[in-house]
Amino acid sequence: MNRRNFIRTGILGTIAATSPISFSAFGQATKQTGRSGSLNLRFRPYELQLRHAFNLARSQRTTTPGVQVEIEYDGLVGYGEASMPPYLGESVASVCEFLSKLDLSQFNDPFRIEDILEYLDNVAPNNRAAKASVDIALHDLVGKIMGQPWYKIWGLNPDKCPNTSFTISYDADPDEMRKKIEETAPYKVIKIKMGLDHDKEIVEALRKHTDVPICVDANQGWNDKNKALEMCHWLADRGCLFVEQPMDKKAIDDTAWLRERSPLPIIADEFLQRLPDIRRAAGAYDGINIKLMKSTGMHEAYQMATLARAMGMKVMLGCMTETSCAVSAAAQLAPMVDWADLDGNLLIANDIFDGMKIVDGKITLPDRPGIGVVPVSELS
Ligand code: MG
Repeated sequence: MNRRNFIRTGILGTIAATSPISFSAFGQATKQTGRSGSLNLRFRPYELQLRHAFNLARSQRTTTPGVQVEIEYDGLVGYGEASMPPYLGESVASVCEFLSKLDLSQFNDPFRIEDILEYLDNVAPNNRAAKASVDIALHDLVGKIMGQPWYKIWGLNPDKCPNTSFTISYDADPDEMRKKIEETAPYKVIKIKMGLDHDKEIVEALRKHTDVPICVDANQGWNDKNKALEMCHWLADRGCLFVEQPMDKKAIDDTAWLRERSPLPIIADEFLQRLPDIRRAAGAYDGINIKLMKSTGMHEAYQMATLARAMGMKVMLGCMTETSCAVSAAAQLAPMVDWADLDGNLLIANDIFDGMKIVDGKITLPDRPGIGVVPVSELS
């Protein structure tokens, strides 16, 4: 997946920062140049193929739309990625439209990360995954210029990375369910998607095979606070560490009620997107789940982790279904967090990067500059 392949791709979008450009059609640029001293942003769609259908409380899917991004500057290339699970409201079209609006020609220094990200925020509201793709590529680029990975730039100790959980969801087919459980064998924490009709069955099936700790993500699927509390007690007796987004994100009073009584920490996911949301979460939730596709990237994710820790809240680091590009970017923050759910790259069949690894269940950061990834195959 080199620069030339991006440029030659018909559905490619290119922004040459120092050159006037015009877009003859959606996602296509009429001028494509990369030169020393200018920021050159390229992007193209890349659909992620899931290894298993994902059964969530409110949906099922077998693919996730994504967009791969590159920023080239002075002969170096930073990689970024947007992943857009449908429930977040972004799409390939919206991401490409947002990226097509960007004009980076006003910036000639990639180290002006705050200025560049403030500009992105002012181009249009929301578009968090689109903004994250640029943020990640920019961080990768800056890290490469500095010759250091971001966990080192942030002063973090990679030995403090937690284990990652590996996610499974219920499948009505017993053979499929057995396969899913067998795939959890290398991992020290298993995350279970709940909020369906088989919440207890999946735990009971899992417990026939393993005693490793579990964590539960109800994806807003428990509609009744008393049922949610009963589930929290039931799960606490079965080696559960915490429960993520038990009820609807709008049910903040019921969630606060649950948090007061639950034996397990209650973690906000869908409830919370960006830094200002943390204040609202305090009181109703014990902790937050930070994801780059929600936070608009690494810069704000670092701020969120710092603020949440200062407020005495638990911090979880999550991801979408993503290639090793966005997962490795998130993993740079892993030494700061209590729990990590960075298995997005493990859930897809067409990863195109080599990056962070899971070694004996634990997040292991490569000693490579930037976000620590190298492309391993062409976009297909
Ligand atoms: Mg979640």
